[in-house]
Amino acid sequence: MPIRFFADDMLGKLTRWLRLAGFDTRYERQIPDADLVRIAAAEERVILTRDRKLSQHWQVEKLFLVGSEFVTEQIGEVFGHFKLAEDFKPFTRCLECNGTLASIRKEDYAREIPPFVYKTLDEFHRCSSCGHIYWKGTHYESLARKLRLIQEALKESSNPQSEIHNPQSNA
Ligand SMILES: [Zn+2]
Repeated sequence: MPIRFFADDMLGKLTRWLRLAGFDTRYERQIPDADLVRIAAAEERVILTRDRKLSQHWQVEKLFLVGSEFVTEQIGEVFGHFKLAEDFKPFTRCLECNGTLASIRKEDYAREIPPFVYKTLDEFHRCSSCGHIYWKGTHYESLARKLRLIQEALKESSNPQSEIHNPQSNA
């Protein structure tokens, strides 16, 4: 079964990046620690938290303590630790609610798509939970590029030899 996460309240941005890369990541605002721990255990999710107290107070087996307060470093920590770069399934999961995306015929949702987008694009996906519609516009392109950079950076760092064979990395 693919790895699943439950990110705590302080990790909203990281949550969106995990979902963007296709990882099942639950996130609830202001959830009491006891509920977070209980639900994570029931759903076999790894808790991601920046709260040292949470990791000390609760005897949780599956918990990863995130060190950095900056999302780019958090991505490095979490994606690196769990070796996520191998399993990217970008744009399969809703950034807003973690629901799964299914492709749709734009004709069926014409009223929910801005006219310019409707005219210029043909590939659309819709969240099976909240109904949010996604398309591959300019925002998509920039996110896709960032995802590729993350993936490349992670693959390089997990393969230290590549630095030796790549003189440019010393520039
Ligand atoms: Zn959704």
